[in-house]
Amino acid sequence: MKIHEYQAKARLREYGIRTPKGVPCFSVDEAMQAADTLGGDFWVVKAQIHAGGRGKAGGVKLARNRDELKEYATEILGKVLVTPQTGPEGQEVRRLYIESGADIAQELYVGAVVDRSRRRVTLMASSEGGTEIEEVAEATPEKIHKVFVQPDIGLTRDEALQLSENIGIPKASLEQGADFMMNLYECFQGEDASLLEVNPLIVTGDGDVIALDGKMNFDENADFRHPNWPELRDTDEEDPNEIEASKYGLSYIALDGSIGCLVNGAGLAMATMDIIKLYGSEPANFLDVGGGATAEQVTGAFKIMLSSSQVKAIMVNIFGGIMRCDVIAEGLVQAAKEVGLSIPLIVRLEGTNVKKGRQILEESGIALTVATTMSDAAQKAVAAVK
Ligand code: GDP
Ligand code: MN
Repeated sequence: MKIHEYQAKARLREYGIRTPKGVPCFSVDEAMQAADTLGGDFWVVKAQIHAGGRGKAGGVKLARNRDELKEYATEILGKVLVTPQTGPEGQEVRRLYIESGADIAQELYVGAVVDRSRRRVTLMASSEGGTEIEEVAEATPEKIHKVFVQPDIGLTRDEALQLSENIGIPKASLEQGADFMMNLYECFQGEDASLLEVNPLIVTGDGDVIALDGKMNFDENADFRHPNWPELRDTDEEDPNEIEASKYGLSYIALDGSIGCLVNGAGLAMATMDIIKLYGSEPANFLDVGGGATAEQVTGAFKIMLSSSQVKAIMVNIFGGIMRCDVIAEGLVQAAKEVGLSIPLIVRLEGTNVKKGRQILEESGIALTVATTMSDAAQKAVAAVK
């Protein structure tokens, strides 16, 4: 789950990290009021979307007076920003963050991610802040410094100081730099983040170390520990189909192909996508209905897939283990009748009570194709879209 910059900065502040003062806004009027609240005569108008690279796309503007602030707020609010992270269709700006302008002496980078192969939280830092870290990694990998944090010990002060020194934080600010790194690690752990990136973190003219940007993703496996997450969610930024899917307890990810997949179990879903590719077509989605597929879930899944004009056929691949095939077949038939299927439906069932399940499908009167094996189903689905 992703959150906005202003929300990430609020989390960072709770862990003792300094940020500029700011006010989130939904209108130009609110932006003008924010300038009064913040005071001063230099503000930054920042588009709030769940994607980075806003600066280059015109989503971050420095306002030197109230007229400029009004101009930029008007311009950015409602604008569709296209950045390398939004995809070509872009993302509409519905929220702004107005911040007091900061006096930048140095722009640096620090990020925390989970390194799965090392099974460690990894802190990455670089002197090259403000630019995309992927570009730094490509062109000058020696400028990225890493600490693989020992989970039972946590980030040590020595490591934090060394990392601060490596990225060129001046001597007088090194203690602040180390505090920043340690607080960042605490924040990553305490908030169950899967990614926490501050690009840039800056050293100001006065030598203060401040987070000027903040990008934070949460690990949804930990949602039971965070009752505040639902209110941090901005569904305007999410794929409507994925939101709909989560209501039915489905794991759903939209893809570019033409064969909709309805599968139980993530492993089988992956294998189904692979076999569709093997026979020369592309899956339209990843969809896992979980261990026990109910009629309600199957109906929901059909509705989501049928709402996309890109889906030309549906392949159902279900293994009846604890759930019996006859129960699944009944659910499928009920769902297909309810949504009024208009595209070819290929069904492969295997497992407990499979004979009875197939019989229910065949006698249902619904125009569906019953397949025997997984490759049989995939070949039939591919033929249906070709
Ligand atoms: P991003 O492009 O989405 O990563 O947005 P950022 O929040 O990182 O802002 C992009 C760039 O705008 C930063 O790298 C800074 O160079 C600049 N910027 C942002 N806030 C300020 C500020 O308060 N003062 C100054 N001088 N520049 C700023
Ligand atoms: Mn940034």
